[in-house]
Amino acid sequence: MITLEVRRREFLTPGFASVTLGGPAVRDLVVAGADQAVRLFFPREGQTALRMPTVSNEAWIAQFMLVPKSVRPWVRNLTIRRARPADDEIDIEFALHGDSPMSSWVRRAAPGDPAGIFDIGTVYRLPEHAEGQLLVGDETALPAVLSILDGTPPSLPTEVYLEVAAEADIRPVGAPAGTRVHWFSRDGADLRPGALVLDALREAPLPSGRFHTWAAGESRLATSVRRQLVDDRGVPRRDISFIGYWRLGRSAPG
Ligand SMILES: Cc1cc2nc3c(=O)[nH]c(=O)nc-3n(C[C@H](O)[C@H](O)[C@H](O)COP(=O)(O)OP(=O)(O)OC[C@H]3O[C@@H](n4cnc5c(N)ncnc54)[C@H](O)[C@@H]3O)c2cc1C
Repeated sequence: MITLEVRRREFLTPGFASVTLGGPAVRDLVVAGADQAVRLFFPREGQTALRMPTVSNEAWIAQFMLVPKSVRPWVRNLTIRRARPADDEIDIEFALHGDSPMSSWVRRAAPGDPAGIFDIGTVYRLPEHAEGQLLVGDETALPAVLSILDGTPPSLPTEVYLEVAAEADIRPVGAPAGTRVHWFSRDGADLRPGALVLDALREAPLPSGRFHTWAAGESRLATSVRRQLVDDRGVPRRDISFIGYWRLGRSAPG
């Protein structure tokens, strides 16, 4: 359990904000890169102190749930977009939506506010035999995709399918030479998040040779990418890693 404080907040596009958290305790974080994620603890509205769990293993959940809501912080899963251990800082990028606990906290976050993290590790692991990769995600997976691309060699042919809520959230990506990024935006259309990329993938040319797929985002998107690739395109199951980041209509627990 690592306790930090907000150093900066920056709106990147209308639907995305980056919050920099810092403090000497960042040195306790083992930086793994790629889609490394954390549980982010942040105060509920009106709470000035952050009451972090004291147990630094999976038993924290039991301890946490016994704390009354009046003093218990919110907890949400987020990706470490960037780590700068030399500056004792990490950046986290938030896909904002409505007045959810996470979005509201980002809007009120100010330098000096407390926030804490608990490392939950990575899912992305490129097998040695991979001759290419396919990355698929919605807006919640954009930070992880950008971080994966930071570590992708230019020699690895990579196809990226990214869906965001609005065209204004599409941003230039400093992608490696062998990467092609395909953007999709719902732009107010009444579509389930992930529907556009899923549709595009149905007919999309896939990387040649044996490639690895990583898919994340709304839970149906993640599972459907796998089903579609396996059932319709004959991709071996073991060449796909996927993770549901959130569920439409359901709040994250905690
Ligand atoms: C490993 C992992 C890494 C993640 N990394 C990131 C990250 O780097 N950046 C990021 O923004 N998110 C990330 N997420 C997703 C994030 O944890 C969820 O979107 C979370 O539910 C947001 O909490 P909230 O308080 O905004 O909404 P909640 O209180 O959880 O939900 C409130 C309502 O909003 C809906 N909802 C939740 N998320 C969204 C959304 N993005 N768009 C539209 N509706 C939504 C829910 O279905 C629910 O109806 C990650 C999730 C996981 C598991």
